[in-house]
Amino acid sequence: MRRYLASFSCILFAAFALLPYALHAQAPVPATAPYKDAQLPVEKRVADLLSRMTVEEKVTLLSGSGWMESAPIPRLGVPAIKMADGPMGVRSWLGSSAVTSGANAVKIETTSFPAGVAMAATWDTALVQREGQAIGQEVKALGRDMILGPTVNINRQPLWGRNFEGYGEDPYLSGQLGVAYVRGVQSEGVIPSVKHFDANNEEFERHRINEIIDERTLHEIYLPAFKAAVEQGGAWTVMSAYNKVNGVHCAESSYLLTDVLKKEFGFKGFVISDWGSTYSTAPTVNAGMDLEMPGGAPMRAAYTPERNKISGNGAGWLTADKVLAAVKAGEITEATLNDNAGRILRVIFLSGIFDHPHVATGEVDTPEQRAVAREGATEGIVLLKNTGSLLPLDAKKIHSIAVIGPNAAVARTGGGGSSLVRPKYAIAPLEGIRELAGKSVHVTYALGVGMEGEDPAQDTPEARAKLLKDATEAAAHADVAVVVVGRYSKLETEGSDVKTMDLPAGQDELIEAVEKANPHTVVVLNTGDPVTMTKWLDRTPALLDMWYGGQEGGHALASILFGDASPSGKLPVSLPRAWQDSPAFSNYPGENLEVKYGEGIYVGYRYYDTKNVEPQFPFGFGLSYTTFKYSGLTVTPGKVAGTEPIEVSLKVSNTGKRAGAEVVELYVHDGHAKIDRPVHELKGFSRVELKPGETKTVEFTLDRAALSYWSPETKAWEADPGTFEIQVGASSRDIRLRAPLELVR
Ligand code: BGC
Repeated sequence: MRRYLASFSCILFAAFALLPYALHAQAPVPATAPYKDAQLPVEKRVADLLSRMTVEEKVTLLSGSGWMESAPIPRLGVPAIKMADGPMGVRSWLGSSAVTSGANAVKIETTSFPAGVAMAATWDTALVQREGQAIGQEVKALGRDMILGPTVNINRQPLWGRNFEGYGEDPYLSGQLGVAYVRGVQSEGVIPSVKHFDANNEEFERHRINEIIDERTLHEIYLPAFKAAVEQGGAWTVMSAYNKVNGVHCAESSYLLTDVLKKEFGFKGFVISDWGSTYSTAPTVNAGMDLEMPGGAPMRAAYTPERNKISGNGAGWLTADKVLAAVKAGEITEATLNDNAGRILRVIFLSGIFDHPHVATGEVDTPEQRAVAREGATEGIVLLKNTGSLLPLDAKKIHSIAVIGPNAAVARTGGGGSSLVRPKYAIAPLEGIRELAGKSVHVTYALGVGMEGEDPAQDTPEARAKLLKDATEAAAHADVAVVVVGRYSKLETEGSDVKTMDLPAGQDELIEAVEKANPHTVVVLNTGDPVTMTKWLDRTPALLDMWYGGQEGGHALASILFGDASPSGKLPVSLPRAWQDSPAFSNYPGENLEVKYGEGIYVGYRYYDTKNVEPQFPFGFGLSYTTFKYSGLTVTPGKVAGTEPIEVSLKVSNTGKRAGAEVVELYVHDGHAKIDRPVHELKGFSRVELKPGETKTVEFTLDRAALSYWSPETKAWEADPGTFEIQVGASSRDIRLRAPLELVR
């Protein structure tokens, strides 16, 4: 009885405490309520709207109302935020990727842009911004409000199943491209979501894996892209990752969400959970996780306790009843609740969807949007080898081409999972080559080898022998052979890592056989992860990496092969010779659900260049059909106290006979720091288009941050006085110019 009385008085107390609030909140909302006034500053609108909401209404905002919608509050005119997956275009929002990838799924067809890694290979921030804008326009045209991208996780190791989605191994490059994407999307009044915060760098046990990462490594490698997207891009939302970092699930990490994201970076928008990545109510809300997704009936159907047990997922922790109970129990304060709800409302006002709801017009995949996709696919192709200038092919001189390989006749537009877009059409390499070759060049095709796991009929010893024989014959009878190899969306996908760095079964043998039959062989890689090439590379005269080029990949490849465009892509990741050479090799995938990021800050070229491990192709590398000369590097002033901007200038000339674009890379070398530092780090880049004989001045502005490391001692960014070296070059291993810069206290 005493217990009953105690809980009764608790309820009574809560009811009285909340009464004035509720009374005010339920008063009819006049049309002139300040929050409805689009002219008022956003913060005033948020405060006014919050003051009119009941606690019951506020708690409903913290979990989704469906698979891809937040909860609306009709009484106050608060709309649901309608989401769609990305980042390489707009993906169907009508269920999980398993559902929307199904044969019977409702078709939502949109422009398929190149994979993130391909866009990163362009090093073209203006283009990525236009891509973001085009995607924003498609989101709006479909009546949605939010795109779940960009992915700015670092490509830590070659086997990550989502390497194709990321912007490569360097935090500065990823950050600048993330900023560009965010700016493009937000310029259309559409909400991006920078994901996955933080350190989602392997798919192996992604819901349960505990990553042990020291604070310096977090700050120097795994946080900067998010920091840039927030501080420079003004990103409106950030998505928390599935994995644990240092023992805590990201959605429950007050260190990551509150201390770093909200306090250190000054993030004002809301944090959304990755789908099914929550495990508690009050600790999650108090950590700074604002919106749990998905919600409602679709969440209850997809995340049953049995299934969660198998996958390690968690969901349904921020439902209104649970959050309300936690508020009433005093586990979540009203100030915290106001902060969570206020962040969601802030984004609703900032994006404009409160005042101008998006209405579906259905106009997507316009010629302009296709043009952006094609530009991205073309600029992203990297020419890795071109012995004897086999490329570009001269359609007037050659009479026949044999196009061969499991990725030749099928357009492999992207990797698998929640990012794979369904386009209206997609151009395969063979189709693109046929179009450009014209009537005078005879184009033949041979599969050569079936794609691993795709068609069992192609996988018998007899079928394999016949396919290989046909391909070698086709190659032997042609002037040039083009072999398109790589993986596809089932072998390289969200949810699982790639099993080996080697090409899928039979592809190495195919390349070897074709190269034997025809010395004029061009190998084309159509994949998102690095692959082992040691079996055939020495004999390969020409090698291109087209990544996953989206729906225009085949057109882009053909224009590079025939020289309509000069290759200008550069590697956003080092391509190691072998998986054993990767700095993460001995720290992957971890043991007993724990992985130590033992290589620390030595990720990618930071490792290969500092520890003198020769990669197959270095970070930032890419050839062209023309040549470039670098000259006249100046650093002004040459002596700084560190607070003033540092201007770096140089000249780049096109010394060849064709127009082309060069990506100029700026690295900073610090040989005197108190602490161990990589031999150099990327701190600037610029893509310059040059006509033959043309010279342009390239300028960079550096600040103290470009000279700094994150000190575990002071827990702050530090730059030690002394002489730095400013290096400018065409790859991390091709530094053309150097100049000193002195930092004085
Ligand atoms: C992925 C996210 C995606 C979400 C919604 C998750 O499995 O990790 O990137 O946005 O699903 O589909």
